[in-house]
Amino acid sequence: MTSSTQEKLNGKYAPRYIRIDPRDNVAIVVNDFGLPAGSTFADGLQLIDFVPQGHKTALADIADGAPILRYGEIIGTAIGPIKAGAWVEEARIAMPSPPVLAQLDLATKIPKLQPALEGHTFEGYRNKDGSVGTKNILAISTSVQCVTGTLEFAVKRIRTELLPKYPNVDAVVALTHAYGCGVAIAAPLANVPIRTLQNLAKNPNFGGEVMVVGLGCEKLAPERLIPDGTPAHILRMQDEAFEGFGAIVDGIMAMAQARLEQLNKRQRETCPAADLVVGMQCGGSDAFSGVTANPALGFAADLLVRAGATVMFSEVTEVRDAIHLLTPRAATEEVGQALVREMQWYDDYLARGGADRSANTTPGNKKGGLANIVEKSLGSIAKSGTSRISGVLSPGEKVHQKGLIFAATPASDFICGTLQLASGMTLQVFTTGRGTPYGLAAAPVIKVATRTELAQRWHDLIDFDAGKIATGEATIEETGWELFQTILDVASGRVKPWSDQWGLYNDLTLFNPAPVT
Ligand code: CA
Repeated sequence: MTSSTQEKLNGKYAPRYIRIDPRDNVAIVVNDFGLPAGSTFADGLQLIDFVPQGHKTALADIADGAPILRYGEIIGTAIGPIKAGAWVEEARIAMPSPPVLAQLDLATKIPKLQPALEGHTFEGYRNKDGSVGTKNILAISTSVQCVTGTLEFAVKRIRTELLPKYPNVDAVVALTHAYGCGVAIAAPLANVPIRTLQNLAKNPNFGGEVMVVGLGCEKLAPERLIPDGTPAHILRMQDEAFEGFGAIVDGIMAMAQARLEQLNKRQRETCPAADLVVGMQCGGSDAFSGVTANPALGFAADLLVRAGATVMFSEVTEVRDAIHLLTPRAATEEVGQALVREMQWYDDYLARGGADRSANTTPGNKKGGLANIVEKSLGSIAKSGTSRISGVLSPGEKVHQKGLIFAATPASDFICGTLQLASGMTLQVFTTGRGTPYGLAAAPVIKVATRTELAQRWHDLIDFDAGKIATGEATIEETGWELFQTILDVASGRVKPWSDQWGLYNDLTLFNPAPVT
């Protein structure tokens, strides 16, 4: 990364831009709130327009139709001539077509294994199956939306009447959702929401203590949520043994109490970092995402991989336009083919709905300086670091591998979070440029800001500031190590992220690509 020299003048930064790759003919403005026309950078480049923070300026004249390069990759072509120092707005960039899936190099540049990183541990809850949780949660599964209100009523009582008696249990979480009935349960694609619910119940943070509340007449029979012989604890509201609502609630409470007795025996113990399953995603991205937070997270992901952990990255529409940079990193040709398979599946899924990957970018992304999905994707995949890609999961599949894994999910924050939980994630790192109060009840979420201005303004929502990389106060390596340590602290319960301190939790949101009836 090259950039203008850092100067501090009266506590304010001199005009500063960041160019990622020497080939780039645009760079992003670093200064808070942008820079006015006439601002001159250390290298003599002068702005001829106002350029907002995070937005691009041309480093040289760009001819009509010429490629615009950021990250050393073409993010589009110029619509009309663009002068050096001009604001390269979204409207001046024509978007290129996505990489052709049939023409990708598979496993052609497999990264070498990095030296193992020994001696890093966290305090986790080890389960009978060998998995390790970062929290000790009673999770109550549901087989249909009909029971949600009843279960939430019961959960309130469990929290106030039972939980205080079980001090080792962190929380009670109702795994509620909109699925279960009124859906084409036998449609081939129904396997996605169904396996998501099955695997959610098995998340390591829930300690293997499964219980299901169902109605009794729904299409998704409660037994289907525990198909592999996990001790069944199922309560059906329509069971004739229950006389009235009060009896049903009492039944749920009794079943919960039995699970709490077991969960309360769990104790944190020292576990190698290899036992972590970390999910990564971004939301509310801006042009700094790919410069600060995502590269720092990528560095931390490499450290986790070296320590033997499992690290998942996701969000198909945010890797689709950068897939040509990922398939060569596949550990084997089969893994490369699996990446292509997931991209093709999503292309088809979007096409059926009359959309394409350009539907991904939000007004906030654009305000933050991201012109299109190509630019967003190039920044997004920085999260994956530099390790080889060891495996690929279809949406909602459970991970059984160590190393860097691509878990295919939509980019929707809530759906991605839900699917990564189903895949077995026990902690999530979430990068954001625009800011979001995102949180998950089932796993701690570390929110990383791409800009210091956001980290300071949202000092009680953002857990980690990666913005110092843009101002030159810290390197990607230093910030990546610091983030790695934060992950170990949060996984150990020593540090509580803000979403847990305030109890800010988003709903579980299932991905259901199958028809509803
Ligand atoms: Ca997202």
